[in-house]
Amino acid sequence: MDNNVLVTNVQRFSTNDGPGIRTTVFLKGCHLKCPWCHNPECINPYKEFYYLEKNCLKCGHCAEVCPEGAIDFQGVNGEFPKRDRKKCTRCMICVNECPYGALETVGREWTFDELIKEVEADKLFYENSGGGLTVSGGECLDYPEFTAGLLKLAKDAGIHTCLDTSGFAPWKSIEQVLPYTDLVLFDIKCMDSRKHLEATGVSNEIILRNAQKIADATKKMRLRLPIIPGFNDELRHIEEVVKFARELGPAVEGIDLLPFHNWAEGKYKQLDIVYAFAGVGALFPEHVAEFQKIIENNGFEVTIGG
Ligand code: SF4
Ligand code: SF4
Repeated sequence: MDNNVLVTNVQRFSTNDGPGIRTTVFLKGCHLKCPWCHNPECINPYKEFYYLEKNCLKCGHCAEVCPEGAIDFQGVNGEFPKRDRKKCTRCMICVNECPYGALETVGREWTFDELIKEVEADKLFYENSGGGLTVSGGECLDYPEFTAGLLKLAKDAGIHTCLDTSGFAPWKSIEQVLPYTDLVLFDIKCMDSRKHLEATGVSNEIILRNAQKIADATKKMRLRLPIIPGFNDELRHIEEVVKFARELGPAVEGIDLLPFHNWAEGKYKQLDIVYAFAGVGALFPEHVAEFQKIIENNGFEVTIGG
């Protein structure tokens, strides 16, 4: 079994992670470093903590108990307690000791029993809406045994299953999970490999190859296109993806446009990560209406927001 699988969130009543009403399980850890990521808490594969400024009474206790000197309470430019995440060894002493709940652990281990109980609780909603379980991340294919195990439990319980992936994974990991997956939600960020590498830290060659292999395995897929201002919000990108979708063949059931939003800005702040998209406005459905039309004109069903 995969070791140290951390879950950041089990989101019930999700309507953006596949068809119908779903429960989405977010796993922690991803090899891509997309600067627009909506789930920055899912990037690192280890436990971290949020600093919740609104709860902090500036008592200084966290600085006193930190064994690494990773919290400065002398006050630098008035910003204290100042966290030095490079010095932090993630012992979580400060989190446990904060008297006001201003520090919160991100990521915890869940047992399969706990997860499937949570997932099964909404079975009636799935049945009425065509929903089910989605395993997402981060990159859930970094934990193929865990992901396959959870999807299998859901399938055994008669629950529809989705895998939400960047596609950046060895084929043998994908092979492990496909038998228990009803629908693959497959992200396409851009078709140009150099541009993809520059933006995300990895080339898209494996990703595109995996998309083709999943399609060849006749697994149902939806391509998911994050639309990012200044990166891929252009007609040429949409035309290239549509061409690729046609090449993939009948496995592609539809295309989901995911317009950039800035709701994650607060999470970046709480994790002390510099947000490259700070101050960039959200895109709305009307911003991508032209893209929607092009995709529909090519015979694909489109959703906006997934
Ligand atoms: S212990 Fe908690 S409330 Fe006190 S300064 Fe640290 S984070 Fe703020
Ligand atoms: S998690 Fe541990 S090392 Fe990191 S800041 Fe808190 S007390 Fe210090």
